[in-house]
Amino acid sequence: MGIGPGSPGQLTGRAREVLEQAEYIIGNDTYLDQLGPLIAGKKVITSSMGKEVERARRSIELAREAPVAMVSGGDAGIYGMAGIVLEILEHEGFDIPWEVVPGITASQAAASILGSPLSGDFATISLSDLLTPLEVIERRLHAAFSMGVPVVLYNPKSRGRPHNFALAMEIAGAYRSPSTPIGIVRNACREGEEAVITTLGEVAAVEERVDMHTTVIVGGEETRIWRNGEDVKGIITPRGYHRKYVY
Ligand code: SAH
Repeated sequence: MGIGPGSPGQLTGRAREVLEQAEYIIGNDTYLDQLGPLIAGKKVITSSMGKEVERARRSIELAREAPVAMVSGGDAGIYGMAGIVLEILEHEGFDIPWEVVPGITASQAAASILGSPLSGDFATISLSDLLTPLEVIERRLHAAFSMGVPVVLYNPKSRGRPHNFALAMEIAGAYRSPSTPIGIVRNACREGEEAVITTLGEVAAVEERVDMHTTVIVGGEETRIWRNGEDVKGIITPRGYHRKYVY
């Protein structure tokens, strides 16, 4: 199940129901901390980042006996735990009932803070090379930026891969102008929320704002920064109404 970006107000109604019905709650400790009283009285099993396969196996073992909620941040099916749980279920051939509970993903949460940068088509790429080789990520970045649509970068930077973000910006620069809007949102829709709006030409100056709690949205060919005088209000990608209507 996806629990959204991290504050209880962003949980879906179905996610709340599933938490209530579960006997076991299993997940990464940072995500479980955010659920607080919602999981009081449950059998809670925490595990650390990087132990996903073990966690998925454990959840399946437990689910043969009792209802289990396997918690993922954001949406469970977007760079989350749903895939590995279902892969193991498929492989083991156990016939146990399962449900993927969707949640608000980081691209939606970050976009909502910035305004409406993803009004039409967009692409998402994760810069984490833990499970995907860097050459493959580079190839996908070229393909995504060449489409001219906004590109959302998940896992933009961590201590283990500090250079992937700069590399992504270099590839973006091959397809987009320096005035392309960029939104950097840290801790979207949860405690510690911060947002920076800049441009591709100036992003290097705020690179230290990018970390593993951040989602970065690089605007597409039509994306613009909404300004009121000197004031920056947000980022807008027009959906295309201006091509059809006068307003
Ligand atoms: N399943 C999650 C994504 C997990 S990958 C989802 O659907 O959102 C982890 C990456 O997601 C982080 O490195 C960051 O890029 C992004 N992320 C998750 N929650 C976020 C939040 N509240 N604010 C900003 N970025 C977030």
